Amino acid sequence: MKASGRHKCLLCGEFYQPDRRNLCHQRHCAKPECRKRSMKDRVEP
Ligand SMILES: [Zn+2]
Repeated sequence: MKASGRHKCLLCGEFYQPDRRNLCHQRHCAKPECRKRSMKDRVEP
């Protein structure tokens, strides 16, 4: 069994399966807490 397709959330440390679309950008799981943090990291002009 390969562990490919699983990514470790940088925020909570749990493994999650990112969407194919956001595979390159997504670094967190789908938890509300992590999603909030991810938005905070975003730098908008
Ligand atoms: Zn998370």
